[in-house]
Amino acid sequence: MALLARKSALDEIREKVEANERLDFEDGLALMESDDLLALAELADLARRVRGGNDEAYFVQNLYLNQTNVCRVKCKFCAFARTAKQDGAYTHTAGELVEDALAQRELSGFTEIHMVGGESPHVDFGYYVEIVSKLHRALPDVHLKLFTASEIHHMTKLSGLTHEEVLRELKAAGLGSLPGGGAEVFADRVRRLVAPGKEHPDYWFLVHDTAHRLGIPTHCTILYGHVETYEERIDHLLRLREQQDKTGGFLAFVPLAFHPENTVFERRGWKHTAGSDDLKMIAVSRLLLDNIPNVKAYWIMMGMPMAAVALHFGANDVQGTVVREEIFHAAGARTETEQKVEELVRYVREAGRIPVQRDTLYNEIRRW
Ligand code: SF4
Repeated sequence: MALLARKSALDEIREKVEANERLDFEDGLALMESDDLLALAELADLARRVRGGNDEAYFVQNLYLNQTNVCRVKCKFCAFARTAKQDGAYTHTAGELVEDALAQRELSGFTEIHMVGGESPHVDFGYYVEIVSKLHRALPDVHLKLFTASEIHHMTKLSGLTHEEVLRELKAAGLGSLPGGGAEVFADRVRRLVAPGKEHPDYWFLVHDTAHRLGIPTHCTILYGHVETYEERIDHLLRLREQQDKTGGFLAFVPLAFHPENTVFERRGWKHTAGSDDLKMIAVSRLLLDNIPNVKAYWIMMGMPMAAVALHFGANDVQGTVVREEIFHAAGARTETEQKVEELVRYVREAGRIPVQRDTLYNEIRRW
């Protein structure tokens, strides 16, 4: 009888969630180790609602651009980067990017440009400033969400400026926010294995901390499903939560599943994450990140049917129309690169949620 009466780890977590209490490392691990997916979904959805969430599910109309795929870093999970001399290498000028964005604007009413690229040693800081200022002048009503923390760090190397000086200059030119890429998994062991050429994760935090203090909101990510342990995933989430306690500038968290195609891991026979792991990652993120308001189910990576299911696992955002995504497609993502608004609306509705089109800062543009 005594055994029957003993509470399970999930029961104890439920009590904390109902009381809106913070979960700890051990709770996170217990959640990760649970195979009771439906219980995780229910708990994550409860956490979302206890913290003020409702039936709305967001999306944004955005255009994806990449200024260059030339990169010096050689992350092992990357199928996008080229050396300058390799076939398919490109570096677009600011003028080309503006021309492209204006042509795309004729076709879709995007409100955000999301642009990231390689760390090319063949450009200077002025190249980045020119891109921001030209895009901002050509499309002043479009929010510019540009450059990962790694790229900002790269700009300090190119220019000799501090991270704060780089961010101030980009903000003055029209930068609106930073995407969350470059985080990978923060644990040193994982970094050494998958991205040995990348700067230490302390720089990722320095860039985001500085951006928040300058009034530049940012996003945060994890790239999971390769060599990391559950402990390292939880450690990653808790480091993000700690940063958010300090500066509060993260708009959203985006778990990104590793795609092995066209990387060294494909040759070792690695496969995509299972859908169950993707859903678990969304649920645990929602449960642990009690101070980050939005968790995205990135449909480009998991497919729209799974993203719709993820709305019941704690996600409240399905990202956007994502015109022309290249990075995950280079690594084998088989989703279409543009999800039409009507399709997003249909999937969100069929999941029992209210589709709300938002801008980058989560202001409502339209609801269906
Ligand atoms: S992930 Fe980014 S930094 Fe790493 S090799 Fe690819 S483009 Fe370069």
